[in-house]
Amino acid sequence: MKPLLEITDVCLSYHSLSGETPALSHISFQLMPGEFLAIVGPSGCGKSTLGRTILKLIEPTAGHIIYDGKDITSLNIRKMRPLRREMQIIFQDPYSSIDPRKSVIETISEYMFIHKSYPTRREIMNRAVELMDMVGLARRYADAYPHELDGGRRQRIGIARALSLQPRFIVCDEPVSALDMSIQAQILNLLMDLQDELNLSYMFVTHDLSVVKHISDQIMVMYLGTCIEFASSDELFQKPLHPYTKALLAAIPEPDLESRKKGFQLIRGEVSSPIDPKPGCRFAGRCEHCMAQCLEKTPEYVETEPGHFVACHLVNGR
Ligand code: ADP
Repeated sequence: MKPLLEITDVCLSYHSLSGETPALSHISFQLMPGEFLAIVGPSGCGKSTLGRTILKLIEPTAGHIIYDGKDITSLNIRKMRPLRREMQIIFQDPYSSIDPRKSVIETISEYMFIHKSYPTRREIMNRAVELMDMVGLARRYADAYPHELDGGRRQRIGIARALSLQPRFIVCDEPVSALDMSIQAQILNLLMDLQDELNLSYMFVTHDLSVVKHISDQIMVMYLGTCIEFASSDELFQKPLHPYTKALLAAIPEPDLESRKKGFQLIRGEVSSPIDPKPGCRFAGRCEHCMAQCLEKTPEYVETEPGHFVACHLVNGR
């Protein structure tokens, strides 16, 4: 099977009056059709930027984005248009990505009108109602406005709109972070059911590793614009290698009281500045295993076992 998405050495810098902010540095990974890839990392590490870069909402500074065997890195807006149907995004806060003046049915049908997905208005509206059924939104909400609905239902509108053009790949940008715990589970279950039903590939961005523990196939851990570890979900939870990944796992609350007694592993120290990254490992200033070479040389991103990659001198220098 061929990968649906191949990202090679993607770099991106934001330019502003205060200078250049490197947000992504040499990111590489592959996503197979129907796969669930979680991108995990602290706030500001570049997760959303990566999602938007892959969708070509932001232009990468370097590297290659191959989608379904085609290099889309340098495609302009016009040439990207047919691919927009296939590559969609679900945002963290549906309230800010939905027009408050449009009703539920108008929002869900919006992209289908733009892309002229069906020849008649009636067919588009029928499809919008089908999508409401598919995401579990009762038909009585068709004429409601976003402010009349709770966060979970608003997120269902965002999901239905993303599905309206029958995509194959969806970037889910912290889609449950703004929701209550019970609603989070409902939305995650919905995304999983839709993935099975429609064979979707997800890139799921989150700062919370526990959210994706049981639902992701692969996990990529990011830190300050770099990829520091990549492995299958099972492998990452059983055999984490990077000290930052280990600290993330240790921070997941355990229901079992005995495990809780082990306590948290605090990450101390200063977060390096993304604007002026120092040489060496970006996690060095906070790593309790920091060695001389960690302050001097950027660790290489090495495949230590099939499918398990890590960038750490401690692991790769053994
Ligand atoms: P995350 O999604 O992991 O929280 P982001 O991708 O939003 O991280 O941000 C990565 C880095 O890029 C941060 O340092 C952030 O401040 C910076 N950044 C994000 N958007 C912009 C922008 N439009 N202009 C300048 N810097 C930005």
